[in-house]
Amino acid sequence: MSHDGMRPSSDPRRQREYAYCTACPKLCRFSCPVSEAERRETVTPWGKMEVGHQLETRQRPMDAASAEAVYACSDCGRCTEHCKHGNEVAPALVALRAEAVRAGVAPESITKLVDRFASHGSPFPTSLRQAAQKAGMRDDGTYFPGCTALAKQPNLVDDARAASEAVGMPLAVSPLASRCCGYPLWAAGHLQAFRAHAEGFAEAAREVPSLVVGDPGCAYTLSVLYPQVGVRTPEVRLWVDEVARRLPEHAGGKPVELDAAYHDPCHLGRGLGRYEAPRAILQHALGGKPFAEANDARNDAGCSGGGGVLPRTHPETSVEIARRQGEALGERATIVTACPAARRMFEKAGRKSLALETVLARFFGRESGD
Ligand code: SF4
Ligand code: SF4
Repeated sequence: MSHDGMRPSSDPRRQREYAYCTACPKLCRFSCPVSEAERRETVTPWGKMEVGHQLETRQRPMDAASAEAVYACSDCGRCTEHCKHGNEVAPALVALRAEAVRAGVAPESITKLVDRFASHGSPFPTSLRQAAQKAGMRDDGTYFPGCTALAKQPNLVDDARAASEAVGMPLAVSPLASRCCGYPLWAAGHLQAFRAHAEGFAEAAREVPSLVVGDPGCAYTLSVLYPQVGVRTPEVRLWVDEVARRLPEHAGGKPVELDAAYHDPCHLGRGLGRYEAPRAILQHALGGKPFAEANDARNDAGCSGGGGVLPRTHPETSVEIARRQGEALGERATIVTACPAARRMFEKAGRKSLALETVLARFFGRESGD
């Protein structure tokens, strides 16, 4: 498969996927958080993929209306779980976003995002280097929290480090943390810029054997998307894996009193297949007490609306998606998640949400506090 900026028509796999969807009686329709939130036919997986087929068969141009449809995706991957062909709708839509960029019809919010990236090296108007330094960056550090945590949730970074230390794995923030992984460029459809960014990241990481990555979106980008553009990175070790396997030997702590519900982040679950490690950490922090889950969990989990740059292109829809997923997790529960972007979305939807890292730091009496 290729996401390297080729026209969709030069990629036979994508051609096949657009055609399959066009001929499908919309079997995955119920699974799409965007079309469920917006109740619009044009943003079902079928409707969005039909744009690709119609472009292929020259029945429509890539214009502003086509672009609006192909950006209406949170890259959650849930439709793929329900497709008997295993159609990868989100990457197929990213290929169409690249067409929209080429045709100069991408939404204005995308232009702003890419300009911001060019000026700051990340989607945030802050200096990641300063944020990383403040979070305890060290030349030999191996912890890569991700820029959402560094820029928007610095307490999460402190809590992750404190909890890691409590399980015998002291972590310092890596100098690489002063760079974004580049996921927003990929999701925006700026694929050449994404490849160039990935190459720059890999060059800076030449002497780094491995990173402990906190943000599932960054872990997915480094370990799945970089290889797709031919870029090798350091070995990616997930914070949840590293901590979960050390927990049995570090049981000391005070069970956290919390009416908790666990939300599976899309990139951690469907993207990287991690369902047990975050649950083991939460279970441990709650002293073995049960926590709630949505009826649709694990590989069929609902989405928080935070991926695919959807909060930039469709801000109201992304908050509505978070509201609906919050409802599925129980009206009163505090939503615990291992993804800083998901946590932001739940908070935007008016829900209480805690990072998994914070719950574990609280168990060990080491929470940094707001
Ligand atoms: S992704 Fe699969 S199930 Fe969904 S519309 Fe396309 S072909 Fe049908
Ligand atoms: S990846 Fe998610 S948001 Fe995108 S079309 Fe599929 S179900 Fe909808």
